Amino acid sequence: MKKVLVTGATGQTGSLVFQKLKNQPEEFAVMGFARSPEKAQQLFNSTDNLVFGDVTNKTQIENAIAGCDALVILTSASPKMVAPPSEGNPPKFAYDPEGMPKQVDYHGQVNQIEAAKQAGVKQIVLVGSMGGTDPNHMLNRMGNGNILVWKRKAEQHLIDSGVDYTIIHAGGLLNEPGGVRELVVGRDDSLLSKNSPEGATNSLPREDVANLVVNALSEANARNKAFDVVSKREDDPKASVTKDFASLFAQTTGGL
Ligand code: NAP
Repeated sequence: MKKVLVTGATGQTGSLVFQKLKNQPEEFAVMGFARSPEKAQQLFNSTDNLVFGDVTNKTQIENAIAGCDALVILTSASPKMVAPPSEGNPPKFAYDPEGMPKQVDYHGQVNQIEAAKQAGVKQIVLVGSMGGTDPNHMLNRMGNGNILVWKRKAEQHLIDSGVDYTIIHAGGLLNEPGGVRELVVGRDDSLLSKNSPEGATNSLPREDVANLVVNALSEANARNKAFDVVSKREDDPKASVTKDFASLFAQTTGGL
């Protein structure tokens, strides 16, 4: 039985991971870490198996992670639209001043990694984003947050921590069913280039990311790996649905 803490447990992908682990009680004892009991109650109809806190407060993470074997990091800053698109102008986005990527995606993730290391956690699975090789990526310009730059700095901290890691750089996330597409892995944002494999899109369902996280917790091939991932279209006649996660992880490598 592996005891796992999932942060961002009320987030769109984090809540899927939390529920999937909860549904495998013979393999996993799951605790979720979230900010809002009200949001948790709304989402899950209960606050069972949840602890509440903020990842920018290291003590709160330390208290939550004591006794865990593995950590899943699914927290992220998220910008809000502050001005809709108008003629000739794109929409404008901004972060809450206390929720900037530097605070949440760098300091908040470093707090989690350090707390995990101190608690003797054996494995960390982190969901990040593709696009991190490009400092001028539009996600970096959004809300002047440099979000991909801060995420990558935290990922390097994880690699340097010596704790076994799996870093999943997801393509664009879709709220569509998982388990019905072929997943395609790569690295260094090559999947965003013209040379990406035939049929690969630049996105995948959140549920497929959650399936990757759950499988990474058990598959030896996922240890000390960092990779990009997208999916082929569900209706692609040449695609074959990914079922063998061990083989998929075997195609990936470590380091950023
Ligand atoms: P999400 O729904 O935005 O969830 C983020 C979670 O982080 C939320 O649960 C949020 O709490 C939590 N959080 C934020 N600040 C926190 C803090 N200070 N303390 C504690 N918790 C905090 O995430 P998602 O859309 O599922 O994305 C998952 C990951 O994939 C993220 O790293 C994202 O950047 C990445 N990604 C996203 C896309 C995309 O297309 N959106 C593409 C590629 C990669 P609340 O629930 O209280 O808000």
